[in-house]
Amino acid sequence: MEQKRPKQNNRSASRSKRVDDFQALTYQILQYSNQGIPRTLYQKEISRMIMNFSGVEGVELWLKDHGKYFRAELKRLPGKKIFFKIKPRLQNEKGEVFPRLDEETGLLSLSNQMIHGSMDSLQTHHIKNGSKGLLGTNEYKSLLMIPLRVARQNNGLLLLKSVRPNFFKKDVIRLYEDFSRTLGIALAHRRVQVDLRERIKELTCLYGIARLATQSNLSMGEILQGIVEVLPQAWLYTEIARARIIFDGASFSTPGFQEGGYWQKADIVMGGNCRGSVEVVYLEDKPELDEGPFLQEERALLDTVAKEIANIIIGKQAEQDKLTLEEQLRHADRLATIGQLAAGVAHELNEPLGSILGFSQLVKKWTGLPQQVNQDIEKILNASLYAREIVKKLLIFARQMPYRKIKVNLNQLVEEGLHFFESRCAKEGIELVCSLSADLPEIDADPSQLNQIVINLMVNALQAMPRGGRLKVQTFFRNNQISLIIEDTGIGMGEEVLKKIFTPFFTTKEVGKGTGLGLPVVHGIITSHGGSIHVESKVGQGTRFEIQFPMTGPSVNESGSG
Ligand code: ADP
Ligand code: MG
Repeated sequence: MEQKRPKQNNRSASRSKRVDDFQALTYQILQYSNQGIPRTLYQKEISRMIMNFSGVEGVELWLKDHGKYFRAELKRLPGKKIFFKIKPRLQNEKGEVFPRLDEETGLLSLSNQMIHGSMDSLQTHHIKNGSKGLLGTNEYKSLLMIPLRVARQNNGLLLLKSVRPNFFKKDVIRLYEDFSRTLGIALAHRRVQVDLRERIKELTCLYGIARLATQSNLSMGEILQGIVEVLPQAWLYTEIARARIIFDGASFSTPGFQEGGYWQKADIVMGGNCRGSVEVVYLEDKPELDEGPFLQEERALLDTVAKEIANIIIGKQAEQDKLTLEEQLRHADRLATIGQLAAGVAHELNEPLGSILGFSQLVKKWTGLPQQVNQDIEKILNASLYAREIVKKLLIFARQMPYRKIKVNLNQLVEEGLHFFESRCAKEGIELVCSLSADLPEIDADPSQLNQIVINLMVNALQAMPRGGRLKVQTFFRNNQISLIIEDTGIGMGEEVLKKIFTPFFTTKEVGKGTGLGLPVVHGIITSHGGSIHVESKVGQGTRFEIQFPMTGPSVNESGSG
């Protein structure tokens, strides 16, 4: 290669100037690499810096990221627009790049050989005046290809392409080689920076979620809303990231969440069922990253978050179940205490009541009493009979009434009950719907007590529908349980009423219409028969009582528990 020989001192002055320039470029690139810029943007910006610095028409910057090469190409051919493209190289299992027909096959295979070590991967490759074959159909004449390395590993390639032949002089090539050593380190440094930043964001996000989950005063909804607000901070483009969680039909999102565009979603799976999802969207287009708009780490993070949400919900529900159970136990305990008290009072009252009844009956037998006295005695008799009824109910509630178990056909009891109320229902505009299972087994029970259950529940239902409605009665046999469901479309009950319905003397009805003993009696009977009762009610919509008796009741009990 023939070179002009400028004067010695001129030459060394321009050389030291070039050294300074290279140092400035190196510094600029190192600083830029420290910012943890996403790869695509980084490759484009670095290629641009190098192109402006070197005055070439083409720059290729190959960069290895997560074991894969990404080739960025920047071109500014005379008379044409500046062109930039970036593509992952198609690789086979051995990591070899496939040349593609529409590309510069010669150059590509050169690059390929250099990356995979079949060419001396330490050496710069220099073409001074390229033939068409090697540099393809384009106008490039000069090529400088320098491997980028860190810790003896290939980390990328730098290709400088010029349309002028013999563009790169020997001493400049040396400077590019020096520069490339730093560039190799800068590429690795950027990767570490990005990883570190992503990791910190990810951990901050997971920590935020964990902290929300441990705040026992937050409701499930508040926790999910909190998570949604933490999420965007862990994404690369936080400002344009929005998140949404959908769980069991309820939706929680950050302001401005929109469907469509760049969108990422992970399902919330609990016990093998998909119960909802967590989503992150970008509101604007951003340059595509490795495998799409989102980082690989972001995809993994969203999956982790979805699993975390499932865990939090499971934990919360267990906590809630425990509270409900405790509340039920307290309730049962309270009822048992009231039952004992009621039973005590009832026993104490039984004796004086007996005397009042007995002696008034004796007095009534006298002839020739003034009419007024006769009438008064009659009132005393009626009042004490009423009082005896209440005492009886209290004893049933306290499960202190003797009872006798025989085989009872529940369907028959229900039919008799319905028959009893038929004309009243017709008068009050109440539709009767009845669905009784044909293969209902018989129950071991006291028929008169079972009858009390049916009558009490039906009376309550009818009283709840003063302006008409529908009374639905169902029986069925499932899971070894015999069920009776009595459902109305009446006034319903609020939380406060629901809490107290089994407490003796609790009533919302006016004097003469209710004593507040119906449901306590029902509860007492069901409990002594080993069954259970569940209520669902909505104000203004109606009430549903479901009673279940076990198929094999408690061992034959001739006289109740007391
Ligand atoms: P009572 O009927 O004498 O008031 P209960 O023990 O039968 O006593 O019922 C207690 C209370 O429960 C009622 O006063 C009423 O407020 C409520 N209740 C019971 N059944 C129903 C129902 N089907 N619909 C609405 N409220 C009901
Ligand atoms: Mg009642």
